[in-house]
Amino acid sequence: MTAPAAPQIPGRFGPFGGRYVSETLIPSLDQLTAAWAEASADPTFSEELDRLLSDYVGRPTPLGFAARLSAEVAQESGRDVRIYLKREDLCHTGAHKINNCIGQVLLARRMGKTRIIAETGAGQHGVATATACALFGLPCEVYMGAVDVQRQGLNVFRMKLLGAKVHPVEDGTATLKDAMNEALRDWVTNVGDTHYVIGSVAGPHPYPLLVRDLQAVIGREARAQIQEVEGRLPDACVACVGGGSNAMGLFHAFVPDPAVRLLGVEAAGDGLGTARHAATLSKGRVGILHGARSYVLCDDDGQISEAHSISAGLDYPGVGPEHSFLKETGRATYLSVTDDQAIAGFQRLARTEGILCALESAHAIAALPQVAATLPDGAVVIANVSGRGDKDIGTLAARLGVTL
Ligand SMILES: *Cc1c(COP(=O)(O)O)cnc(C)c1O
Repeated sequence: MTAPAAPQIPGRFGPFGGRYVSETLIPSLDQLTAAWAEASADPTFSEELDRLLSDYVGRPTPLGFAARLSAEVAQESGRDVRIYLKREDLCHTGAHKINNCIGQVLLARRMGKTRIIAETGAGQHGVATATACALFGLPCEVYMGAVDVQRQGLNVFRMKLLGAKVHPVEDGTATLKDAMNEALRDWVTNVGDTHYVIGSVAGPHPYPLLVRDLQAVIGREARAQIQEVEGRLPDACVACVGGGSNAMGLFHAFVPDPAVRLLGVEAAGDGLGTARHAATLSKGRVGILHGARSYVLCDDDGQISEAHSISAGLDYPGVGPEHSFLKETGRATYLSVTDDQAIAGFQRLARTEGILCALESAHAIAALPQVAATLPDGAVVIANVSGRGDKDIGTLAARLGVTL
């Protein structure tokens, strides 16, 4: 298999991506595209971003050999395997999302923007954006579905402590997709002074590219780290996929190496045979959501469906267009893991490695035996631990019938 060529039309990944937005946003998206091209080629900008990633975020994150996890996965899969964990859970604020937020807020400041807005589902991206805004002294307003505001009280309080204003959104199902629509509406009205920080590799061009470039530090580090310890590239890279930013971040550096298998793990919720899942690439159709053409979860009339997953960060009925492209070209493969399997993955990582990971990341861990079973003996696998699990302890306790 040859690696897919770079997209020919800017903002397109094959037939996916693009800009399906109101006319009024086009000049701002053009301005953002140009600003990113300029900033990413400017050594002064890169040096400042690198300094913040090291001094503030805590990069590089470790890539550690997981001996006891490897042994269990080898036993279950019947394949000898060496698993390395990329520890994004050790980033400041506890997940990979800060890599993107720091970069975008730094870019917004360079563009002379004085106000930052963001959408958030579970609140993780809202907290990371509020954190970056506090660091730069910029006002921050976060749109969040009213249902999510109710469900995620702790993160709403965190954002407020960080100085952000949270706007509950009552439209539609009052969840993430409605918050994103409302943030786009705010941006249309206030594009002059406002930058909109999108939280994943979704949205209209240039966001899928911008967010991927800012998260690509994960794979760049992992590539150098694995070559240092193993003296070669891995056989596979595994990451969970919600919108797809931690996975794209890990994959990007390996896309040109066809021998490295790229595996994304979606949330199968109650199961792919039920209506309650978030497996957009496995079960969705091509459509348009939040300004981009990609796979979406929708009903027969094309109405966007509600997604479900035990992990709020995977609970999105869309997916970044580059993942749709990697799927169509066969460069990446997408699997899915149910809520129950993810909980078992969480418990396995806790018990074998002493790491309480995010329930999102637990999907990647849970998929390891089925991944290993397709690889030769002696395979080297990198699994991305996208975040830490503190935020999920209450959810887990409830699922396991424990009263805290
Ligand atoms: C938000 C989140 C995800 C899902 O988002 P992607 O854009 O798919 O990476 C995964 N893991 C954690 C810890 C998150 O907070």
